[in-house]
Amino acid sequence: NNRASLLSVNNLTVNYGAIQALKGVNLDVYSGEIVAVIGANGAGKSTLMNAIMGAVPRAGGEVFLDGKLLPKESFNIVSAGISLSPEGRKVFAPLTVIENLNMGAFPIKNREEIYSEMEKVFKLFPRLNERKTQYAGTLSGGEQQMLAIGRALMAKPRVLLLDEPSLGLAPIIISEIFKELTEINRQLGMTILIVEQNARKALLLSHRAYVIQTGQMIMEGNSSDLLHNKDVEEAYLGGN
Ligand code: ATP
Repeated sequence: NNRASLLSVNNLTVNYGAIQALKGVNLDVYSGEIVAVIGANGAGKSTLMNAIMGAVPRAGGEVFLDGKLLPKESFNIVSAGISLSPEGRKVFAPLTVIENLNMGAFPIKNREEIYSEMEKVFKLFPRLNERKTQYAGTLSGGEQQMLAIGRALMAKPRVLLLDEPSLGLAPIIISEIFKELTEINRQLGMTILIVEQNARKALLLSHRAYVIQTGQMIMEGNSSDLLHNKDVEEAYLGGN
């Protein structure tokens, strides 16, 4: 594969005091792909997402988007074309669905463009359309997850980052959301990087995947291959 990667993480290191949470992580995401990072609790998945977004300081390494070095500040990273649906959704509870979506659109200045993005989000998630003026804090967990994804899409990212969209949700809601992620990838051509503890779901959704363990990538490959790999099965697919 000699295509240039859209998102490229090179030798990324993050420290929390004495704890080395990421120990020189490398990762590439090509245009149009869904790439998953799977790993246990505390392996460094959220740290990876937050470091790409500039929300935790990088002790070393670089992140490139389409060959350009990413800026350091979250605000500029979103404007450059990467947005995150964070772990635990973190919707703005006292704001309505529409107000939350508008917050996500902050890099976009043109009102028409914001309106047409919002229409796209409402097409993807009709349940949000039915709840436009409802306060986000009163939405169900699944609806809040849809809103967090919708809010991230409002910035018209080139790469959409998803941190554990399945967290705390019922299996039927998880299936609904993952089906929509496939649509977002296929219909909008959106490039997606997802980190998940639900390894089976993430491998079924994605084209390629990485396995992270204590801050290091220990395996990488086609998701269908990893799904049938004995070591992956034993360590990450038991039971779920
Ligand atoms: P989970 O799925 O449980 O969220 P994760 O794979 O996302 O896990 P991280 O949240 O990235 O893992 O955490 C990686 C390591 O860094 C863990 O050992 C964690 O305890 C530690 N860590 C995370 N945030 C901080 C922080 N703010 N201060 C100190 N240590 C932290």
